[in-house]
Amino acid sequence: MAGDESAETETLAHLLGRRILMDGPISVGAFMAEALGHPRLGYYIRQDPFGSGGDFTTAPEISQMFGELVGLWCVDSWARLGGPGPFHLVELGPGRGTLMADILRAAAVLPLFRDNAIVHLVETSPVLRERQRRTLQPVLGDAVQWHDRLEDVPDGPTILIANEFFDALPIRQVQKTSHGWFERLVDLAPDSTESDPRFRFVLEAFGSSGSRLVPDALRDAPDGSVVEVSPASQAVARLIGTRLAAAPGAALAIDYGYAQGPAVGDTLQALRRHAFAPVLEAPGEADLTAHVDFAGIAAAAREGGAQSFGPVEQGEWLTRLGIHQRASSLMTKATPAQARDIQSAMDRLIDPAQMGRLFKLVALATPGAFADDTPPAGF
Ligand code: SAH
Repeated sequence: MAGDESAETETLAHLLGRRILMDGPISVGAFMAEALGHPRLGYYIRQDPFGSGGDFTTAPEISQMFGELVGLWCVDSWARLGGPGPFHLVELGPGRGTLMADILRAAAVLPLFRDNAIVHLVETSPVLRERQRRTLQPVLGDAVQWHDRLEDVPDGPTILIANEFFDALPIRQVQKTSHGWFERLVDLAPDSTESDPRFRFVLEAFGSSGSRLVPDALRDAPDGSVVEVSPASQAVARLIGTRLAAAPGAALAIDYGYAQGPAVGDTLQALRRHAFAPVLEAPGEADLTAHVDFAGIAAAAREGGAQSFGPVEQGEWLTRLGIHQRASSLMTKATPAQARDIQSAMDRLIDPAQMGRLFKLVALATPGAFADDTPPAGF
């Protein structure tokens, strides 16, 4: 991008404003990719956005129980794959490293799992890599490998986890009009100036991308409908499928989204300091996410060669994995105040009105690889 080297005070909005001025409107996907991942000014690149002082809180940050149960799932899956010697324990988008630390602690139930795990973190943010290093140092020492992309993780048996990773991958949006499907693009608003760039949504001038991107099942949706597709998520899911077809393994994708997708609806949202913000207002300063199309992820992974299970709602899955028992056991050693915290964390994770229903899981596995030929735990 031109002008990238300029003054520190220049914001991502300035850069995107100049890019649109020179090249014309950009796709929602390009806007999202820059807002989250611009190498210097992207949202995830600049800061640690998690926790009560940040912009949002994820399940592993709510309670250790979440990561422990995911850890038991990993151990169980690995054991049922026949415990295939050294294997790659891969996490996509590990945030603060909390989930991986909890997985490894829970995995103490099967020391062979720990001894054979080679930990790989796929993370683009230098700030978060440093944070992950600090979290995992006491558990793993320096035995962690970081990669920018899943493609860079060596081949071989794999257990892979992705929590709230797919919702951060760019989506593209298309809209139905009386003249057919058009892609939604981000343009400069009429009142935009070079020093104070402002953005708005427009439709592409000719409907070639729109009609190419819209899924066949939704082609006849009513005028005005917006449909989201995520070629980036599809590509990652297909790659996971290819990995699992080539060597024994299992993967777990946890996120918020719709089970029967792709669906009609504009789900792109910005979160800043735990509140919704206008999505185009401050690129790089707010988290941008969209609902995940679980059926699409599962289908892409199957195309790659994996078997898929689910989606299952998070509340259901955590209950099947034993969150109530785990909470009771933690409470026996807790003060009354701690016991209340454990209870409210569990409620937040499983209550259908909180994260229990909106969040879902899909499991992927090497076809026929589980020794007993039953689904992965909780599916
Ligand atoms: N799994 C963590 C963090 C979720 S936030 C948790 O549950 O707390 C999304 C994470 O994905 C962050 O670590 C972010 O830096 C990373 N990320 C976002 N886009 C990415 C990309 N394209 N490639 C690799 N990592 C990415």
